[in-house]
Amino acid sequence: MLIGIDDTDSPLRMCTTYIGTALARELRSASFYVKRLFLIRLNPNIPYKTRGNAAVALDVEGDPELAFRIACGVVERMADFEAENTHPGVVVTKERPPAEFYERVVKDICELGEAIEILEGAGALYKGYKNGRGLIGATAAVCSQLEDHTFEILVYRKEENLGTPRRLDRGSFFLADAATYPHTWDTVDRANDLVVCAPHTPDPVLFGIRGESPFWVAYARAFVQSEEAGFEQIFCTNQGTDAHLIDSPGAVLQENRSYLLEGLVASAPKTEPGGHVWFALKRHGITIRCMAYEPTKNFREIVRLLIPGDSVKVAGSFKKGSINLEKMKVLAVSRVCQMRPPVCAICNRRMTSAGKGKGYKCRTCRSRSMEAEIVEVSRKLEPCWKETPPCARRHIAMPLVRLREVECPSEGARDR
Ligand code: ATP
Repeated sequence: MLIGIDDTDSPLRMCTTYIGTALARELRSASFYVKRLFLIRLNPNIPYKTRGNAAVALDVEGDPELAFRIACGVVERMADFEAENTHPGVVVTKERPPAEFYERVVKDICELGEAIEILEGAGALYKGYKNGRGLIGATAAVCSQLEDHTFEILVYRKEENLGTPRRLDRGSFFLADAATYPHTWDTVDRANDLVVCAPHTPDPVLFGIRGESPFWVAYARAFVQSEEAGFEQIFCTNQGTDAHLIDSPGAVLQENRSYLLEGLVASAPKTEPGGHVWFALKRHGITIRCMAYEPTKNFREIVRLLIPGDSVKVAGSFKKGSINLEKMKVLAVSRVCQMRPPVCAICNRRMTSAGKGKGYKCRTCRSRSMEAEIVEVSRKLEPCWKETPPCARRHIAMPLVRLREVECPSEGARDR
């Protein structure tokens, strides 16, 4: 059976992955066989999200009715029901409903009625608390079938430490990264000298390490020195897979969806007050603003190298009429040519201008030429993918370390 839960936390307290892990422990102690836990990221632009729009699914063997009672009990005991925007959902289904609903929830915006229709169709046991919205994410989680997936080990705090500053040995994260990258990623952001895998919010997560397999995340975790941890759990996840991107849509884009778009740079990048950089992208005869916000740090340097006519593919969310860039592939750079006086064919010296519209003259032998020399200016930008740094990365966005092997094998090491 599959168990889905969502919308159990608030900005002040709790985390759905923590409740999922607590549920797995409780099921195991009731003799259920808990095979795997899934951390499923959904549409990252959803306005109701607390943090990263995550839902959790558990793949379990045992009695569904009992599992449902246990799951509801854990959620009722642990979820932050007092928070205005917390609306938990619990789902237990023997069969996995069609994956299409997951695809919609990760890319689009869905209604509660759609989730209930799926659950009824699957003969699932389900319970929506308060306005029941959490059933959307909980249903999507049990529908998900991850063709592409990664792993994350989440290490949780002991209850007595909650609310206190996290005690973490910064250097140990850099060691963990050095020993396991590129099999793990987004543990630290070397260019910005930051540990990025530990939250600063008051939730129970101490830190989480992302990577390509359970082995690599567990190996990296072993390097980390910190306050004594509570329990920990490895999740199989759609993080780092770009599951949210709608590839090559038509001309009209919808707010709060994320896209992969190809087009031509239509205006030179401009830096706005606050350090935000933008350029216009033209596709299907329509121009769209592409934003690299200040938190994307060094990525903005790359964006500033674009010039009109460059051909690019951009990935990002469409919000308030702009694409918020997550990464960008430079497909082809346009040629920039400069004119300069030609070299004199007789004395081999560079000529000088003879005045506007009068061509060029040689100061030594006085010969003349009307033809300028055309030289191509070399561009600092090469066709390749460029991405926002780890400190600005969305959970679901695919880091280039995963993409690069396929698309840019010559580039090798990371952008650091
Ligand atoms: P955390 O990551 O800390 O668990 P969160 O960021 O996942 O928190 P939730 O508290 O789960 O945020 O809130 C997201 C809410 O939005 C849930 O009720 C979920 O069912 C709903 N939701 C998620 N995706 C969609 C979607 N595509 N369309 C409509 N509702 C959605």
